[in-house]
Amino acid sequence: MAVLVTGGAGYIGSHMANELIDAGEDVVVLDDLSAGFWWAVPPEATLVQGDAGDQALVARIIREHGVDAVAHFAAKIVVPESVVDPLGYYLNNTVKTRALIETAVRAGVRRFIFSSTAAVYGEPSANPIPEDLPLAPINPYGRSKMMSEWMLRDAGAAHGLGYVILRYFNVAGADPKGRTGQSSPNATHLIKVAAQAALGKRPFMEVFGVDFPTKDGSGVRDYVQVTDLVRAHVAALKHLRAGGESLVCNCGYGSGYSVLEVIDTVKKVSGANFTVKLSPRRAGDPAALTAKADLIREKLHWQPEFDDLETIVQQALAWEERLVRKNAA
Ligand code: UDP
Repeated sequence: MAVLVTGGAGYIGSHMANELIDAGEDVVVLDDLSAGFWWAVPPEATLVQGDAGDQALVARIIREHGVDAVAHFAAKIVVPESVVDPLGYYLNNTVKTRALIETAVRAGVRRFIFSSTAAVYGEPSANPIPEDLPLAPINPYGRSKMMSEWMLRDAGAAHGLGYVILRYFNVAGADPKGRTGQSSPNATHLIKVAAQAALGKRPFMEVFGVDFPTKDGSGVRDYVQVTDLVRAHVAALKHLRAGGESLVCNCGYGSGYSVLEVIDTVKKVSGANFTVKLSPRRAGDPAALTAKADLIREKLHWQPEFDDLETIVQQALAWEERLVRKNAA
């Protein structure tokens, strides 16, 4: 029995691979290494370089390793990039997910855990957002994930594939043991960018929009620590293996911080007073996204351990420093 982790050399997927190894699972990572790093994959896991949409390759992996569950992380994840390259996003996130679901069904895999996103809600009419709010994504990234959710639900109903769809809010921080973290040099996500500015890797950073209808005008997000997030996937795996029902759950803490609050926290924790510029809104950004976070606790017995912005920021800074040393070595 093994778990196939697509995108397992990437930020969230590599945390998942470590968490599964810690739990004593056999792990096969499938990653095209376009955004991931071979060294981020734990040595106990098998790394296959390839495409999650390559049906012959995936069928062979499932057969050879006795894969009983797929955790599908491989995706493009940058909202503004999806606005300028929608077809790239639909190919990578939607078309290849269709191929992967089909391969799993044909090979008799009965469990599928899918990385979805709060972006499926668009500009939500309620905050915190309940899972049953009608989906209305406002950018191609959100639509690419919404379509994957639909396919998974329909394939689940038609073919008996059990699934857990986790809608991530804003994932941040790093492995508390320091094994992996957000490593992309061109990352665009707020806490990563602020950590880079704090360490002098960027001359300044920008706040994208201070005219949103929020507490201080900047965007509000629910920042969830990455180890907590992947533990929800391990809980989902256990749930499905025990014969539990298919689920769609938000994965966030239920509280939001503004961009300006996050930047203040990074300045406080790092002690660095980096330059912050106020810039126009970024394409496709909603004002506020916070999770109604009850379902995941109830159904998966999820108990987060790192629900604290300062802790998340400390981990992000520690990983960023580690990257500096890694690159210098
Ligand atoms: N943001 C920002 N400056 C940056 C990166 C992000 O002001 O350099 C803002 C962005 O506009 C949004 C929030 O931070 O309001 C979170 O953005 P991020 O890209 O981290 O995640 P997203 O919510 O887009 O998935």
